[in-house]
Amino acid sequence: MRYISTRGQAPALSFGEAMLTGLARDGGLYVPETVPQFTQDEIAAMAGLSYEEVAFRVMKPFTAETFSDEELKGAITRAYAGFGHVARAPLKQLAPNHFLLELFHGPTLAFKDFAMQVIGQLFQIELAKQNRKVTIVGATSGDTGSAAIEAFRGLENVDVFILFPHGRVSEVQRRQMTTPIEGNVHALALEGDFDDCQAKLKDMFNDFTFRDEVGLAGVNSINFARVLAQIVYYFTSAVAVGAPHRKVSFTVPTGNFGDIFAGFLAKEMGLPIDRLVIATNQNDILDRCIKAGDYTKRGVKPSMSPSMDIEVSSNFERALFWAYGRDGAAVSALMDELKTQGSFTVSKNAMGALLEHYDSGSVGEGRTLEIIAKTLKTTGELLCPHSAVGVGVAMEAIERDPATPMITLATAHPAKFPAAVNEASGVHPELPPRMADLFEREERVTRVPNDLAELEALIRKERRV
Ligand SMILES: *Cc1c(COP(=O)(O)O)cnc(C)c1O
Repeated sequence: MRYISTRGQAPALSFGEAMLTGLARDGGLYVPETVPQFTQDEIAAMAGLSYEEVAFRVMKPFTAETFSDEELKGAITRAYAGFGHVARAPLKQLAPNHFLLELFHGPTLAFKDFAMQVIGQLFQIELAKQNRKVTIVGATSGDTGSAAIEAFRGLENVDVFILFPHGRVSEVQRRQMTTPIEGNVHALALEGDFDDCQAKLKDMFNDFTFRDEVGLAGVNSINFARVLAQIVYYFTSAVAVGAPHRKVSFTVPTGNFGDIFAGFLAKEMGLPIDRLVIATNQNDILDRCIKAGDYTKRGVKPSMSPSMDIEVSSNFERALFWAYGRDGAAVSALMDELKTQGSFTVSKNAMGALLEHYDSGSVGEGRTLEIIAKTLKTTGELLCPHSAVGVGVAMEAIERDPATPMITLATAHPAKFPAAVNEASGVHPELPPRMADLFEREERVTRVPNDLAELEALIRKERRV
């Protein structure tokens, strides 16, 4: 299987190369040239298997040319061994036809662990085989950074630098990034918002001299390996509620579009998904785009669900690539418009293609609090604010179509966002015992300006490899 760029101007790569690279050299994102297909029988046979076994079956056709069965199996087993729940991604019932997929039992309590733990293992295998070293630089609105640090801390062949927006992540998120003691971990607090962090990251990737000099690698959700590992829980959860014998819909709290795009690929692989519902907070650029075809930036307003405070939703480019019939030139033109004018309009045909799969909705701050309180009262489930946005949008989708089972992704543990959860419910969510001492650990962080040259100088100086 080869991987091609959404902008059509970069060489096709193997899975291993696409994984170690992250962003394509033409600024595009890697996608598989063809999507492997599963038959109804193959999907039905996933019922009752362990999460790890389904992960192996789903990922293997994408990775087989880079990793042997033994390597992939070993990576998957080690990746999920540290999770706090034996089902890895347990499903809870909220209402007669509404289910909650809990994706927050990993080491940093957000769904990012599902992919990051696997790619930490896969990087290690591939770098050792090639006797190669890399500098990972990531941008985070909070959860990617901690998940990446957790996955790569202490690894021989890797230095990891994480840019997060100063003052805009929760205290738990910040401490998860600033308290690891390993010398290969570098937490950088940038003066700006998440889109600034992400823009600086892209600029570093486009500075080919720097990129080659430090062996730059990206583990943001632009990295296809991340998307791949997230396809798995669409299969396990859909099969648990009756697929492939019945259709299932999903609602996904969305920011950078990586998680929901994994759902789209699951559908392309043959999983009978009816609707993929994009849930946004007050930063509703994707909801506006799905409703009216207009992708216009208005400025990010900080919310209580910070991991979704995003306007440049990088993986939406992958969805556009499919909607435009895999036309790299068309995608390139849209992305140029976004960069120069801060907006683009999706063509009528492409909108038609998007609406075949996606719905959307948006939930404001007050309503998010109400949903946390109400869900606790009616089900006993304490939601994080991101998951609450998902549940709110899902409830509207269920009203439109009460017959199809709806699975809402719970993307983070409530204890990651204790202030909002407490305000909504009066309950202070406790951290799981394995990280109860987080607030006593010493922090280590470097404040950095929103300036490319200074950032690059810092990374050159601090990296050990
Ligand atoms: C990253 C994140 C999201 C958004 O996921 P995308 O893949 O960026 O759309 C939602 N909720 C939480 C808690 C997250 O960490």
